Formats: sequence, structure tokens, C-alpha cells
Amino acid sequence: MGSRPAVRARNESAWLLPNDGTRTNHRLRVDMRQFADSDEIDLVIVGCGAGGSVMLQRLARAGWKVAALDAGPFWDPDTDWVSDEAGSHQLYWTDPRVIAGTDPVPMGSNNSGRGVGGSMVHYAGYTPRFHPSDFMTRTLDGVGADWPLHYAALRPYYEQIEQELPVAGERWPWGDPHGYPYRPHPVGGNGEVFLRGADKLGITAKVGPVAIVNGRFGNRPHCIYRGFCLQGCKVNAKASPLITHIPDALARGAEVRADAMVTHVATDERTGRATGVHYVRNGKERFQRARMVAVAGYSIETPRLLLNSASSRFPDGLCNDFDQVGRYLMVQGAPQTAGRFDAEVRMYKAPPPEVSSEEFYETDPGKDYKRGFSIQTVSPLPITWAEHVAAQGHWGSALREYMSDYVHWSCLGALCEFLALPENRVTLAEEKDSYGLPVARFSYSQCDNDRALARAAQSVMEDILHAAGADEVITIQRYAHLVGGARMALDERHGVVDENCRSFAVPNLYITDGSVLPTQGSANPALTIMAVAARAADHLAGGATGGTPTEGT
Ligand SMILES: Cc1cc2nc3c(=O)[nH]c(=O)nc-3n(C[C@H](O)[C@H](O)[C@H](O)COP(=O)(O)OP(=O)(O)OC[C@H]3O[C@@H](n4cnc5c(N)ncnc54)[C@H](O)[C@@H]3O)c2cc1C
Ligand code: SF4
Repeated sequence: MGSRPAVRARNESAWLLPNDGTRTNHRLRVDMRQFADSDEIDLVIVGCGAGGSVMLQRLARAGWKVAALDAGPFWDPDTDWVSDEAGSHQLYWTDPRVIAGTDPVPMGSNNSGRGVGGSMVHYAGYTPRFHPSDFMTRTLDGVGADWPLHYAALRPYYEQIEQELPVAGERWPWGDPHGYPYRPHPVGGNGEVFLRGADKLGITAKVGPVAIVNGRFGNRPHCIYRGFCLQGCKVNAKASPLITHIPDALARGAEVRADAMVTHVATDERTGRATGVHYVRNGKERFQRARMVAVAGYSIETPRLLLNSASSRFPDGLCNDFDQVGRYLMVQGAPQTAGRFDAEVRMYKAPPPEVSSEEFYETDPGKDYKRGFSIQTVSPLPITWAEHVAAQGHWGSALREYMSDYVHWSCLGALCEFLALPENRVTLAEEKDSYGLPVARFSYSQCDNDRALARAAQSVMEDILHAAGADEVITIQRYAHLVGGARMALDERHGVVDENCRSFAVPNLYITDGSVLPTQGSANPALTIMAVAARAADHLAGGATGGTPTEGT
């Protein structure tokens, strides 16, 4: 089912975009179906990012009356985005969040997105699969958790989403070896450095996998290699749900209600079932009725919304009878190593995601830590490069010197599988946001295994850059990619949702974003989040005929 006509028959988004040099099908938005608050629609989705958009598109195709509410705007790449680091700040969720723990995770810049398309609007574009081992780390390694489903259950959904984004890359030798629908992109200076250094050390590194068009896909054009992927690709070459799933959803009768901040999931005190969502739009409080609710607001906002939806029936927060909401929140350790070369590298002249290695992904019995890490090109633009240098302690004239030397630097990043721990969690803070709602308090502390992994990753990246000919290397410690906080499990004592993303506590409430992941591997999470949502949608649509869902109603 991977030929273009087959992909188009399942998801027409790329063909619904204009091919006249503009980026948005305004007609689709103008003609979009609009439900009244008083309509009892089949499903209301909170959040229109990676997980929420896939649910929306799949269930619209199944004939459901479905709407997705997003707190942020409905972006128009032509008028809203600029190819400029400083000018892209409005893409991020910058509402206040309180951080705590021994190793707090900085928030408030580009941790997550706000607006239709979610965080994938400004994600880098790497789309690796998880490995089969990620689904059973407790059994294999005695750490983390086993998922209530195996890799094989997600494989068909990985394949579907890889075709729909679509993904380009070399044949992938790691995990479950597989190919990609599109050939690998040519690499720029940073990718060349990584490939050269890895080759000298006998480390396998491959080009891809990236959700960036290589060739033409529908009306989406080829990448032009200008490197602004993290600023929202104005070209429409990099995949985000705004262009990969929303157009098809609208064409199939879904509604996207932008600038609608959901404040509370309502439940019937008598039946315990969800009845819809309270939200604020244009300063007005409103309520959308629905037969089912799916929450997909990102790993911080999803647990926060559940906790803010407490009622007399759920006094400690929705779905939180067993104190599972907000727990096991994960973030990958992401040390970043830069190396200086006499020759110019000009790492900005390509998409930041180019080359990866998963050689160190699995547990190595010869090491004193469990699980592993991956290594990827990252290619910071000048402001982020200044942050890297400043984080190393350079300031004033030294910082200026590093900045003017920018074209000579290459940069690699690792993703370390920091373990899922129950005390790493979201709770509600005293502080309130502009809607009067308690903001999230995210407490995070590393364990010894996490620190050992980050040290190992740093050492391999420094070796690679030295082997490639770097005369100076500088490493900083960072975090990347939050997942977890409402994880799937076999029962309600160990998690919040089952393998189909259906909450244990409220039979017509689903959670379909990165919050449900029980482990994170050392892969970037978006592809897995979309695959999990597509599987959950299949489960729902399987019980539905002509907009009359039988599952969970
Ligand atoms: C800088 C950066 C680079 C990244 N690079 C990669 C990468 O290369 N590869 C990769 O796989 N992943 C990457 N990621 C991570 C990836 O983008 C996220 O993991 C993924 O998008 C999360 O999907 P989600 O569905 O959980 O949430 P999101 O995609 O963030 O969607 C959540 C949506 O919910 C909305 N929302 C939240 N609360 C409410 C509410 N109360 N009411 C209404 N709407 C609400 C938000 O506005 C948002 O649009 C990157 C992330 C960042 C920040
Ligand atoms: S490098 Fe390619 S994918 Fe990235 S922003 Fe430019 S055109 Fe888009």
C-alpha cells in the first residue's frame, strides 16, 4: 500500500495544497465545516499536534463528526512564518511552567509548540522508528517498563505514516531493519563531517531518516536546503500535521477550531463519562458537547488538563484515582558536541537533520549502564550557536570570537534514553496562568544510569569529531523531547490508558499524544506518537459506521 495513488487514496493532504507558489489552501479553511457548541459531535480532540491531527484525519475519513480545538493559531506559512531564528518565537508554548527537582528541565522556549500542527511545526524533522526492544525494556534490561503492546502491533502504522509524511533515508540497519519510501537527501558540510569521523572509527552512520520531501510529493515541493526547519518550513517541504494531515481532515468534514484553549474536560457526575470540553475563545467561556473526548495537548499540558479537570467524582484529577497522572514523564538527555575545523563547514547550509547513528542504541552487556543513545547532526543557527558557546562559559570577547568563527564549526547531538521514573512528574503549581488555571509544575531528577549514558554519548561524539579532524571540541548538556505523563499500561494501577489509548477511568475518554509512551528509547518521538494515534483511531473507527461510533459510547 505504498504507491503514490494508494497513499493519496488514504490521505490526500499533499494534493490539496496549492501548487501556485502559495502554501495554504484558503478555500478549504473558508469552507470548513463548523459545528455548534450545542451539537453533540462524535469526538472532540484537545490539541491539533502530532497525535491530535492524525486522530482528526483518520476519524473524519471514517465519517465521524469530529473537531480539534487548539489553543494556538491556524498558521499560514506565507504570512505567519519568517526564516529567522529570533522572529520564530511565537511558534513556541511560552506560558509559565514551574520547574523543580535536582536536574530541572528548562522550559519556556522551544520545548513545545502552540498552534495547529503542534510542536512538529518547529521540530527538526527526524523520524526514526522505535526499536522492538523499546517495547519491553523491563523484561530485557530490568529497567523502564514493558508496553502493553509489542513493536509488531505498530509496524503497519509506522509504514503508513512514513509514506504519508513522507520519509527519506538510507535503508535502516538497526532495530527492525527497513527501507524508506524516498531516497536519502544529499548531505551538507555537517553531515559530511559526521560520516567521515564515524567511518574512521568503524561506527556505522546513515543518512536520514527525515520527513522532508526529496523530489516532489503531491503539490509539496522539494527541499531547498536553506536550513530553517526549526523555524517552521515556509517551503512546505518539511512534514508537519498542518500540511500532512489537516488538509485531508478538512476536506473530509472535520473542524479545526484554532485559538480555543481547553480549560476543563467535563464528566457526568452520575455516569462518570466525559460529556465534552470547556474552552475559552475570544475571551468567552464555551462548552463543546461530544460523545467522546481525546486529549492530545503534549506531555506537560495533557497531565495538567487532567489534573485541572478534578470533580467530586474524580477529586484528585481526572483518571487519577491511582496517582498515575503526570508520573513517568521522560526527557532525553541531549548532550551537544561541537568541533572546529580549519576548513569551512557551514553547517547552516542544509537541514539540521541529516545523518544519524543508532549503533549505541541497545544495552551493551559490557557497559555499566542499561539502554543507550543515538547520535545525530544538529546544526544550530547563529543564536542557538551563541547559546551553545555561552553555556560552555564563554562570554564577552571570547563569545564574539566563537561567533565570528561560526562557519568553521560542526555540531552533533546525542539522544540518551533517560529512564522513566515515577517521581519525575507534573503536578499543579500555586501559580495561575492568564485563564486563572494552575500552571504545571514539572519536577525532574536524573538517576545514575542517566548520567552514565550522557557521559558515554559525550565521549563517542568527541571521538567522532576528533577523528574527522577537529582541533577543538566543546560539549554542553541539554535535554530534548518530553514524553510520558499519562502512560499506557496493562491496568489502572500502573498507567492511565490501555494499549488503545483509552483511559481506564473514563470509558469514552482517550489520550492520543506523546503522554501515553511508557518508554522513550533514544529515537525522536514524533513518528511513534503519530503511529500510536493512527492505531488508536483504527480501533475507534473499527467500531463505527457512518458517524455512529459504537466503541466507547
Ligand atoms: C525544537 C524541537 C525539535 C524537535 N525535533 C524533533 C525531531 O526532529 N523529531 C521528532 O520526532 N520530534 C521532534 N521534536 C518533538 C516533537 O515535535 C514532539 O514530540 C511532538 O510534536 C509531540 O506531539 P504531541 O501530539 O504530544 O504534542 P504537540 O505536537 O505539541 O501538540 C499539542 C498541541 O496541543 C495544543 N494544546 C495544548 N494544551 C491545550 C489546551 N489546553 N487546549 C487546546 N490546545 C492545547 C498545543 O497548542 C499544541 O498545538 C522536537 C521538538 C522540539 C521542541
Ligand atoms: S531546509 Fe528544507 S525542510 Fe528545512 S526549512 Fe528549508 S526547505 Fe524546509
